Amino acid sequence: MDLLKKCRAFTWADETRDVGLYPFYPAFQGPAGGGQVVLDGAEVCMLGSNDYRALSMSAQVIGAAQDAIALYGTSVTGSRLLNGNLDLHENLEADLADFFGYEAALIFSTGYMTNLGVVSALAGRGDQVFLDEKAHASLIDGARLAEASGAVVRRFAHTDPNDLARQLAASPSAASLVATDGVFSMEGDLAPVADLVAVCEDFGATLLVDDAHGVGVFGRGRGVIEQAGVRGRVPLLTLTFATALASQGGAVLADAKTIEFLRHTSRPQIFSAGLSPADTAAAHAALREVRRRAEAEPAALAAAAYLRRALDALGYDVVDSASPVIPVRFPDQLSMLSAHRLLAEHGVHTNAVLPPAGEGHQLRIACTDAHAPGLLEAAIGVFASLRQDLLPRYRRAA
Ligand code: PMP
Repeated sequence: MDLLKKCRAFTWADETRDVGLYPFYPAFQGPAGGGQVVLDGAEVCMLGSNDYRALSMSAQVIGAAQDAIALYGTSVTGSRLLNGNLDLHENLEADLADFFGYEAALIFSTGYMTNLGVVSALAGRGDQVFLDEKAHASLIDGARLAEASGAVVRRFAHTDPNDLARQLAASPSAASLVATDGVFSMEGDLAPVADLVAVCEDFGATLLVDDAHGVGVFGRGRGVIEQAGVRGRVPLLTLTFATALASQGGAVLADAKTIEFLRHTSRPQIFSAGLSPADTAAAHAALREVRRRAEAEPAALAAAAYLRRALDALGYDVVDSASPVIPVRFPDQLSMLSAHRLLAEHGVHTNAVLPPAGEGHQLRIACTDAHAPGLLEAAIGVFASLRQDLLPRYRRAA
């Protein structure tokens, strides 16, 4: 038996390249955030980045990263537990805790590692993990590790607190972790955080909200927990620095004893190098910027509302959402990939999403603060001009 046989049998990417429809790994020549990027030598409108507050090219954030490299070098060269811990990490953790209203925070090297490290360290033999059925892969993989050490893992219906309550009622005595995205990254919808809090409090379950796409955007920058009015009632908040915080890395926020436990038990924390000085300083500078702008409604939300209405009016199958993320559905893979290709050829970059990442085949569009009206109008013009080509399969009365 040859282990690598499956790799040679994997032909989807080549077949899709052969027909000119391969949508993945576009290589941008220059920044990948912001409103416009360069692809194959041409300027294209970026409608697929998570740089929600358009901070990835901000002078403050870049300057902070440069200063950190000059002072601390390029790498911490080891685990924070032993030799890779910096005052930069601890200062960022203190400010994260202060901003989001928690006792303490712990940084990981990515958002994925944060969820993996938190769920797998907290849930094990005798415990239960309940995941929203559309929870991010990193929560799912954390739950798989928890399962391998004896936890029971269950899914509850998407954004359905009643289904969660039914499932918790069926086995009320076990210690339970309930995990959900705050804003679902592919669907763009928000978790019913206040209702989930109420159910978890009723059953004594511990709620984790991964607010990768809500932080910096909702609740005066503090995310969906603040927006839902339940500050102080969600025991575990995780986030990534690779969305609104314009960097790399992630963090968990919790009470001081839980953070102390995770610092000493979470394997992705202990057995992986600490976050680089540049990434840490960039995230910190972006956090300061989010805090400074907290009272202003993010332009990304208004841009997304405008674009959503325009695409709907043009007859596209737009999934309703209230976040910067706009999913546009297509009936099958071929029509979605063709749309992705045509849009790219006309200067608009979107994200192609195949099942199981998305529900069905969809283009994921995301708006940021960089999508000024002129840029959006140009993109809408492209969607309008391609309408006849893109919509033949589901022409709604428009
Ligand atoms: N959680 C959610 C909901 C995400 O969408 C992502 C990826 N954007 C992550 C976690 C992982 O974050 P990172 O890219 O920092 O690993």
